[in-house]
Amino acid sequence: MNESLDVLIIGGGLVGASLAIALDDAGLRVALAEAAPPRVDLQPSYDERNLVLARVSVNALEALGVFDATTPAIPLRRIHVSRRGDFGAVRLDAEALGLPPFGAVLPARELGNALLRRLDTCAQLVRIAPAQAVAIEPVADAVEVELRSGDTRRRVRARLLVGADGTESFVRNAFGIEAERRDYAQSAIVTTLTTERPLDGHAYERFTDSGPVALLPLGDRRAGLVLTVPAADAEVVAALDDAAFLAVVHERFGWRAGRFARPGRRKPYPLACMLAERTSAPRMVLVGNAAQTVHPIGAQGFNLGLRDALTLAELLREAAACEGDPGDAALLARHVERRAPDREATTSFSDDLVRLMGNDFLPLRALRTLGFHALDRIGPLKRRFALRGMGYRGDVPALGLMR
Ligand SMILES: Cc1cc2nc3c(=O)[nH]c(=O)nc-3n(C[C@H](O)[C@H](O)[C@H](O)COP(=O)(O)OP(=O)(O)OC[C@H]3O[C@@H](n4cnc5c(N)ncnc54)[C@H](O)[C@@H]3O)c2cc1C
Repeated sequence: MNESLDVLIIGGGLVGASLAIALDDAGLRVALAEAAPPRVDLQPSYDERNLVLARVSVNALEALGVFDATTPAIPLRRIHVSRRGDFGAVRLDAEALGLPPFGAVLPARELGNALLRRLDTCAQLVRIAPAQAVAIEPVADAVEVELRSGDTRRRVRARLLVGADGTESFVRNAFGIEAERRDYAQSAIVTTLTTERPLDGHAYERFTDSGPVALLPLGDRRAGLVLTVPAADAEVVAALDDAAFLAVVHERFGWRAGRFARPGRRKPYPLACMLAERTSAPRMVLVGNAAQTVHPIGAQGFNLGLRDALTLAELLREAAACEGDPGDAALLARHVERRAPDREATTSFSDDLVRLMGNDFLPLRALRTLGFHALDRIGPLKRRFALRGMGYRGDVPALGLMR
């Protein structure tokens, strides 16, 4: 079978699915090919990790009809950042800064459910799943992709190929694009637990010598926990019995939220970052984790990838409105140019955060303390910092703007 499309998206993870939804009524022939079957329990990234969604992401997911009144997202109203052993802390309170909630917290599984439900309503989009891209060949004015589903193979031709296929991107490799990688030699153990005091929209991020720990509000007294540990200890810490595990968490986090209880299933994720040396090639563009993968401590990965997708959707809609070529080199160059400042700032922010906060070198520690004090006390600085965390950085896609 040989099919002809305007846009073929490889990878229906959080970013690829969002892009497909944003393009459904753009007047383009769009297909989404995903290796996993379209079920939330079979999709690798629709899992137990708890996502902090920045304001821009929440606005966009609402505008795209992914979020509605039933979405169990908990608004994030206050953030407390501290480091064990350092003086001072940064306290951000959205209301006090005259801002709406900074964003929302939602398990990735719930976001996956919402995306799959919304994908089911897409009238124009062609969904091909399970289907794995196994060969890519540039041809005249298009790219040809071979998709494999069990024993069946089909060839699809598209004027634009979008690689939304995650950190180990097949698309990126097929185009021979190198990637710079850093292994942090750390793992994030993700679970939920019950706190003695309700978090009430309050998130905590605490840095320690052995790695950062984050506590995220999930409603009532449930909280999402991200506990970073040296990679070599991850399996042992994850397998501790409940009492021993909670003792480790208290030792790292302290008692700000009272006594912890009832930890859930614990899943370790090895932490690494990756930056593709280029994000486009003739008739191909990379978005989301395929373009860059960041340490989760800054809670930026999906937020950044969604902004890639929203910007691309905006440019493709403009092109479709005047019957332009979706794979036009000038369009792809505009995408790369528009995304560059956000990509650069967000990837270095996430990396610097891990290195600066993980370092116990005395001058750095003093600087950090000064920085904490300044940020906590200087209102305009704090507001600017908060707005950047909410996703207002670079050229913000229109769907993400405050309405
Ligand atoms: C512990 C943890 C906590 C996190 N917390 C946050 C947070 O709070 N906020 C935030 O913004 N981000 C967070 N992130 C990052 C976020 O989860 C990722 O950035 C996001 O999931 C990336 O989505 P993606 O769609 O680009 O890639 P992926 O989720 O990796 O999806 C790629 C998809 O492509 C498919 N695929 C791969 N190869 C092929 C192929 N050859 N053919 C067809 N399909 C293919 C895969 O099956 C998969 O579905 C966190 C990450 C971790 C690990």
